[in-house]
Amino acid sequence: MKSKSKSSILLKLLILQYYLSVFCFSEQNFDFFYFVQQWPGSYCDTQKSCCYPTTGKPAADFGIHGLWPNYQDGSYPSNCDPDSPFKQSEISDLRSSMQKNWPTLACPSGDGIQFWTHEWDKHGTCSESVLDQHGYFEAALNLRNKANILQSLTNAGIQPDGKSYSLSSIKDSIKEAVGYTPWIECNVDESGNTQLYQVYLCVDTSGSGFIECPVFPRSGKCGSEIEFPTF
Ligand code: 5GP
Ligand code: 5GP
Repeated sequence: MKSKSKSSILLKLLILQYYLSVFCFSEQNFDFFYFVQQWPGSYCDTQKSCCYPTTGKPAADFGIHGLWPNYQDGSYPSNCDPDSPFKQSEISDLRSSMQKNWPTLACPSGDGIQFWTHEWDKHGTCSESVLDQHGYFEAALNLRNKANILQSLTNAGIQPDGKSYSLSSIKDSIKEAVGYTPWIECNVDESGNTQLYQVYLCVDTSGSGFIECPVFPRSGKCGSEIEFPTF
């Protein structure tokens, strides 16, 4: 009798602990990341146009847009911790690499701090259980080094020359080089042509390795042939 009531108390405690962990700490949970890179030519040739960073015109290469925690069902957390503001001092050692690999193209021109602050506030604060601020930006830079999208494409003869390429050839050449299937997001240039805008790859919850995407984003449908504009 005694040991039965003990085990039922233990069971109740375990159930309580489960519900506490689900309801109180679920804000910090996520299932995987999207690592998103943008083609600057496609950000700039739209009706909205763009502004080069104060540090100068970025290289004609894919730049980081963000590292975004996501759920398996396609939804995502955002702005998870208002008490954790972006601090420049925490990433001073990464600054020059960030300016090169994570340049801002929004107007008015900035040095990147505004863009990185936005990405940290909206997305980075939702993976704080895994990565602190330095770890978050460092993880994105390391992923950028592991996935050289432009090289993957040019190796397959797909160049930013304003010509059209098949969506399947773009996906195949990235899969061939990186090892995982990307999601391609298109946008529309000033003349209304659909073009290669962003490349999404999925990343495990530690932020260190690519995985096959549990779910693809809903955004930015492309046609079967899309333009790859110059920059
Ligand atoms: P858009 O509506 O332009 O596709 O996305 C606007 C912003 O919403 C993105 O830059 C990003 O911050 C966020 N966002 C859009 N789709 C996703 C998604 O599937 N996952 C996550 N984590 N964020 C997204
Ligand atoms: P998201 O779409 O990630 O929620 O937010 C992007 C925000 O960052 C927008 O407010 C946009 O104005 C700003 N931003 C600054 N530089 C860039 C850039 O180079 N690319 C994109 N997509 N957004 C940028």
